[in-house]
Amino acid sequence: MPFDLSTRLAERRAAHLYRKRPLLEAPQGPRVVVDGEQLLAFCSNDYLGLANHPLVIEAFVEGARRWGVGGGASHLVIGHSTPHHQLEEALAEFTGRPRALLLSSGYMANLGAVTALTGQGDTVLEDRLNHASLLDAGLLSGARFSRYLHNDPESLRGRLAKAEGNTLVVTDGVFSMDGDVADLPSICAVAEAHRAWVMVDDAHGFGCLGATGGGIVEHLGLSMDQVPVLMGTLGKAFGTSGAFVAGSDELIETLIQFARPYIYTTSQPPAVACATLKSLELLRGEHWRRERLAELISLFREGAASMGLELMDSPTPIQPILLGSSHRALMLSAALRRRGILVTAIRPPTVPRGTARLRVTLSAAHTRADVEELLEALQASLRELPLQAKDAEEKP
Ligand SMILES: *Cc1c(COP(=O)(O)O)cnc(C)c1O
Repeated sequence: MPFDLSTRLAERRAAHLYRKRPLLEAPQGPRVVVDGEQLLAFCSNDYLGLANHPLVIEAFVEGARRWGVGGGASHLVIGHSTPHHQLEEALAEFTGRPRALLLSSGYMANLGAVTALTGQGDTVLEDRLNHASLLDAGLLSGARFSRYLHNDPESLRGRLAKAEGNTLVVTDGVFSMDGDVADLPSICAVAEAHRAWVMVDDAHGFGCLGATGGGIVEHLGLSMDQVPVLMGTLGKAFGTSGAFVAGSDELIETLIQFARPYIYTTSQPPAVACATLKSLELLRGEHWRRERLAELISLFREGAASMGLELMDSPTPIQPILLGSSHRALMLSAALRRRGILVTAIRPPTVPRGTARLRVTLSAAHTRADVEELLEALQASLRELPLQAKDAEEKP
């Protein structure tokens, strides 16, 4: 029977991999209402608490009054408006690069950059734990595509030895599901020795890392020669929506000419760019938000370690609790929810098989008391959790 969707769905359910969308009935923030329940949430990427900030909202509303709502057309036709242009200039200045290009989402920025820069006869090498959008971009590019071992410059070196054509090495700056930081000094050195370009997706580093929130390249002091292609998203620490690629004038012109996910889509609403200009100002200037995050991260890590939890090597607001089995991850998530805490379980194929986890994320909008409440709930919930729970085999 063609299109046997019910079997596919039933198999996914049996493997504890079925997805449900929690219905959010409040703005982003630590205290939310989800499916009618009041919960304390630790799973948003609004790391700096800017998504519902009064000044960002005001800039958005003012922007809509002045510029209307719809982008109206693609950037190359008549959709590239003054706020988009101003935001690009501000992002170029922020990243210390000649130019930046604004795109509608991080997914599109990654598809656009990788496919505009590489094609048949070229090579794309990616960390095997890169974000799904980068993996999709590598597949779509038509280049030879291969994945090296996670954060392993030696594995990358082996792949580079066999690379052909223009070679693009692509890595997350902060890994989205593990929270660890890419070993960019080594990766860039290995790439440079093979005259390959490095592209960094710093969706989770911008705003959180670096003295002015400039992300992993600011944190590690990396130059544009080392990382010619730098990508960031605006829907996480910036609290708004969209994404950007920053680099040389030639890089940005190349994307404008050839990046199909840039060319063939309507520009984002200009008012969103107005809101992002304000959130960029707050993100750079209000360093206390990063200090608060650092304090909450160490509070959480110390508390979790003292109850014997297996934490990952993460200095960032992404603090996953590794469980292994999807079933156990779902059970722990449900036990926390009964105690008023929302942390979603992250399961394959988002993470490799056997590495299901609760992806705890912290925000500058959380208080110490919020984190203490999470730790207490974790301790109580873990006591209820069976030690073993085997997952049914999932179809790859
Ligand atoms: C969220 C994310 C993206 C996608 O960005 P969107 O703007 O949400 O489409 C890309 N890369 C990484 C590493 C991400 O975490």
